[in-house]
Parts: sequence; C-alpha cells; structure tokens
Amino acid sequence: MKKTTLKFTATALILGTSLFGGIAGAAEFPERPVSMVVPFSAGGPTDTVARSLAEAMRSSLGETVLVENKGGAGGTIGVSHVARAKPDGHTILLMHIGFSTAQSLYKDPGYTSDSFEPIGLVLDVPMTIIARSDFPADNIEELVAYLKANPDKVSLANAGIGAASHLCGTMFANAIGVELLTIPYKGTGPAMNDLLGKQVDVMCDQTTNTSQHIKAGTVKAYAVTSKERVPTLPDLPTMQESGFDGFEVGIWHGMWAPKGTPQPALDKLQKALQDGLADKAFQERMLGLGANLLPARANPKALADHVNQQVPQWAELFKKAGIEPQ
Ligand code: ASP
Repeated sequence: MKKTTLKFTATALILGTSLFGGIAGAAEFPERPVSMVVPFSAGGPTDTVARSLAEAMRSSLGETVLVENKGGAGGTIGVSHVARAKPDGHTILLMHIGFSTAQSLYKDPGYTSDSFEPIGLVLDVPMTIIARSDFPADNIEELVAYLKANPDKVSLANAGIGAASHLCGTMFANAIGVELLTIPYKGTGPAMNDLLGKQVDVMCDQTTNTSQHIKAGTVKAYAVTSKERVPTLPDLPTMQESGFDGFEVGIWHGMWAPKGTPQPALDKLQKALQDGLADKAFQERMLGLGANLLPARANPKALADHVNQQVPQWAELFKKAGIEPQ
C-alpha cells in the first residue's frame, strides 16, 4: 500500500514538474510593445484613430502599442506587410473599408481576407467634401456648377486607388459626370497639408481628418456623406439633402492580426480593443471628430461577417461600373 502511494506521488511530481516547466517556458503575450500598422501616412484620419486607440488599449494590454505608418498603393502596401508579419500578436493592423474594396480593385493586392485573423470592428466615420479655403465655390450647388464648367482646372486629392478618399471622390465625380485630375498621396494627412497650402483643390475625406479644419475655417466644406447630419458639424448638409439621391458612404475601421496568431494573444487583443473603446478619453475624442463607436461589433465574428458581405458587394458594384482591377 505504502509502495503504491509513493509511486503515485513520484509520478505526480514528474508530471507536475513537466507541466509547470511547460507553463513557465511559454512566454505570456505581450512580451514587448505591440506594433499597430496603419497603412497610410502619419497625420491622417486612420492614423488619428490608431494613435488614440493605441493609447486607450495600453493599460488593458499591459504594454505599449506603437503606431507604425506604412503608406502607399491605397493602403495595400501596409496591409500586405501585416499579412506577412510573424503571427505572434505583436503586429496588428488598423485599416478601414479599403481592406474590402482593394480586393477587387487590384489584381494582386498582396493579401486576401484569409491572410488575417479578425479582431473586431472599431468605429464608423462619415466623409466630407471639402476644398481649399479660396476655392471659387461657397456651397455644393456652386461646387457642382464649377466642376462641370472647369473639370480640367480642378485637382482632386486622394490616398491612392482603393482608399476611402478615392472611393468617395470617384463616386462624387461620377455622380456629376466629370473626370478630374487626381493626385494620389500615401495618406490624406499629407493631402490635407497640400490642400491647406492650396496646392490641390478638392478632397473627400473622413471627419476625423477634416472636422478641425472645417471648424477653423481653413478649408471650405460642402456636405457630409452620412445619412443624417453629423452632430458636431450641424451646419453641413448631407449629400442626400444636397440632391445626391442615395449618396451615402461610411468608412468603417477594423482591426486584424496575421493568420495563425495564437488564440490567447487574439483574446487579449480583442479584450484590449473593447477596453479601449470603453475608454472615456478615447470616446470623447472620437465623438468630437464625428465618429460613431461600434463597441457591440468589436469582436471577430462581427468583423468577419462584415468583410465577407462587403468583398463581394464591392466586387459586384465595381463590375457594374466597368471598373477593372489594375
Ligand atoms: N483617409 C484616407 C483614405 O482615403 C487614408 C488615411 O490617410 O487615413 O483612405
């Protein structure tokens, strides 16, 4: 009897040792700062959301979140960079609607939805049609009339094919039947600098980039692309009110990790995203910039469902509009 107990104890000890040895050996995520890749230049709207969110996620993660800007090719350079990154949770992506649109605007954007593990939806932002402060049009009717009469004199800034500004600018130009000279940037941060410097004329961009300039009067604003007016910009009419029937664009942002990121790291990232969205300072900043928070959809299933519905929807729309992938 005694012998058996001893044997059992010895076995338990061996098992226990290897079990604890195993746990002690597997380092806890995060082991070092997490890199949040923004596929556009610093100073633009995606960057603004990312920097506020990175700060808001820090205490939940117990590590710093560093924003890394990798702009170019409508965001596809940064997105495909994350698709190829080591899947250990230390590299994540903060992108927007372009994640879906680029998949049918480029023959090879360098990724598919399957290259990623969805973490969750973040927020939704309306866009605004704006122009340099001395542009010769004071309201949307004057803007439309001017663009129709002078299409070859007007430059339209955007962040490259597949970017939100490209999408909105193209929809606007198509709706009024003009073709404008487009100037692509690596993000609408630098595009805004050139608009403020009067080197480009017109742009459609998120309120998270344009609000402060609209309020300060350093740009002219014509309309918002949301269904309802934006509470923080109450004087700006919607496109619908301005006679553009059904013209509605909302720029949703989402967060992803590379495919194969371990589940415990994904769980921590998702919890940190939810905690970040609940952070009062983050909420105040984003609501002040006209964004709508999406806490109920800050989970992998909601983002995966959204993308799975968006990718074919945009592919169909571009096909109907005769837009070929490049
Ligand atoms: N607003 C940009 C876009 O057009 C990107 C950015 O700089 O955030 O997609």
